[in-house]
Amino acid sequence: MNLCDIKTVKQVMGMFHLTFRKEFGQNFLTDRSVVEDIADACCQDANSTILEIGPGMGTLTYELALRHKSVVALEIDRGLIPVLDYTLGEFDNVTVHNEDVMQADLEALLAPAFEDGPVSVCANLPYYITSPILMKLLECGLPFDYITVMIQKEVADRLCSPAGGKDYGAITAVLSYYGEAEKLFVVPADKFIPAPKVDSAVIRIRLYKERPYHPKDEALMFRTIKAAFAQRRKTLSNALSAGFSELTKDQINAVIADCGFEPTVRGERLDIAEFIQLSDKIGELLA
Ligand code: SAM
Repeated sequence: MNLCDIKTVKQVMGMFHLTFRKEFGQNFLTDRSVVEDIADACCQDANSTILEIGPGMGTLTYELALRHKSVVALEIDRGLIPVLDYTLGEFDNVTVHNEDVMQADLEALLAPAFEDGPVSVCANLPYYITSPILMKLLECGLPFDYITVMIQKEVADRLCSPAGGKDYGAITAVLSYYGEAEKLFVVPADKFIPAPKVDSAVIRIRLYKERPYHPKDEALMFRTIKAAFAQRRKTLSNALSAGFSELTKDQINAVIADCGFEPTVRGERLDIAEFIQLSDKIGELLA
């Protein structure tokens, strides 16, 4: 069955009396070479298990199952479960769970997979919930090798921007604490059914096995980043003053000078190592 053929997609949806559900971000891929490129790029280790979020009709799942030891797929839409039984019936290395990834206990679900070898994530993510899913995958502490996701092109540019770049934001700094993100390729909107309003891009995050950053207080590091970006057009000094009302402006300025930054520096110039330097010094004042 060719799930990249639009006529076939419509036929299968009709067979199961389904329509595309906008509220679940259902834009299904219909370009064979894009699907193959994502499955090829997500991880080179055939001994890996792949966690797929949102298998839809199973188009990408099919290619992942051909290339990897096993696939664990989480699909929120109950109506798609019988479709996936039908489209993936030939595989005994695919397990589909009817679950919302945001509610799922990933540690419990993936425990057997981690015991059995490396695990990576691959998904064409629903746009409406891209950042929360990515943050859950990063913060859950599971030792994924790679997280490869197709997301809105603008979000991809943000996540892969260098410090100081025009797209650099709080989420970029936070992501760089966990791993290195790289933009692989752009996928035009007409490669999906139904076509979304914007283009997409595939990014791959290589998670650090040994994190190179060691903040004294992780929560304070995240608070510092959030404060620095909360008031984007303000100087770091003004942004931190607003975010740390328990400190005086003079104390904030002294910390900034102590780190060797210009008094007029803006938060978006700082990379993750510099944010950690800053938050460690703020921590000394708060102690
Ligand atoms: N992987 C398929 C493809 O590439 O054609 C479908 C991708 S579509 C952009 C996103 C998929 O994620 C849909 O199947 C949707 O039902 C599913 N989804 C949306 N929200 C979800 C959630 N919170 N948990 C799990 N799956 C979700």
